[in-house]
Amino acid sequence: MAEFPLPPGSTLGILGGGQLGRMLAQAAARLGFDVAVLEREADSPAGRVAAHTIVGPYTDHTALQALAAVASVVTYEFENVPAASVLALGAMGVEVAPGPEALAVAQDRVAEKQFLNANGAPTVAFQAAATPEEAVAAAQAMGAPVLMKTRREGYDGKGQRWVEHAADAARIFAELGSVPVILEAPADFVRELSIIAARGRDGATAVYPLAENHHEGGILRRSLAPAIVSPALAEQAERIAARILGGLGYVGVVGIELFELADGRLLVNEIAPRVHNTGHWTQDGCEVDQFEQHIRAVAGWPLGPTTPHARIEMLNLLGDEIDAWERLSHETDTRIHLYGKRDAKPGRKMGHVNRVKAL
Ligand code: AMP
Repeated sequence: MAEFPLPPGSTLGILGGGQLGRMLAQAAARLGFDVAVLEREADSPAGRVAAHTIVGPYTDHTALQALAAVASVVTYEFENVPAASVLALGAMGVEVAPGPEALAVAQDRVAEKQFLNANGAPTVAFQAAATPEEAVAAAQAMGAPVLMKTRREGYDGKGQRWVEHAADAARIFAELGSVPVILEAPADFVRELSIIAARGRDGATAVYPLAENHHEGGILRRSLAPAIVSPALAEQAERIAARILGGLGYVGVVGIELFELADGRLLVNEIAPRVHNTGHWTQDGCEVDQFEQHIRAVAGWPLGPTTPHARIEMLNLLGDEIDAWERLSHETDTRIHLYGKRDAKPGRKMGHVNRVKAL
């Protein structure tokens, strides 16, 4: 196993070659690290800015061996990394951070909610179901409407459907693929917020100011940060973040999605054990952004300051919205971050801009 802090010149492995991996690789390079990306595609957003790309599925033993041969420590840019791959890397003597416990919790919406509630981070009421009969019984017991989500592998609003009448639960269970699901009570929220937080190898923690997030069709469109919130709400979010980081013995950056209720309480929607789209504002709004913070944590460096120096409106560029790059390039208050993706499919995250305003 590696010795920490990792010195510059070390190589960090990243599982996943998308835009989050790309921005992590850019931050790592700034600190003098090389990055090796393991990704199925030879030409990936992260691969094009990394020192090495190893092409293969995350489950491929030879590819994992090639990664273990160069990387002192491995991290990931998406939470559906197979647990077996993390175990295999560990057996090859390379630590994966954040660790297996964080991955296990983030990969299963039921385990996630159980962990959160056990650690004093409140969520909506929920029930698990593995058969159509259980789904109907759960919807009846909870009282419709309820939101049915697949326990695993949902993202950007995919794999979830509202159940308006309990009798519909069996049909919707089948439409979601007849896989284990969770049924969630509706969160009657006034705003969606998120908090990006980090924990270092020394157990020190850091939090960024809250972001206020706006979704369309399940996809994040826009974040405003620092969100305008009361000190009490900020403290509540920080307490929740501290419990999650401590409960998982976490190393790295975590994204925590929150519902703000009318009575001022916060509920946790979900946690992402990685850098997060709602934290992109930190690139142009904070002293040390979430990408450098994650690299610092994983490499065993001290965490950096999260102090904001600007208010940011972050806008995702989806699909052909990327075509506006030339107009945007003329806007002096707009910082442009493009991911180098070749194919602008509808809804695909092609880049984002941070509009910079005074605090
Ligand atoms: P998720 O995939 O869990 O992040 O959910 C995507 C979006 O669906 C969230 O950002 C919310 O807008 C909405 N949502 C998720 N869970 C609930 C819930 N229990 N009640 C109301 N809205 C929800």
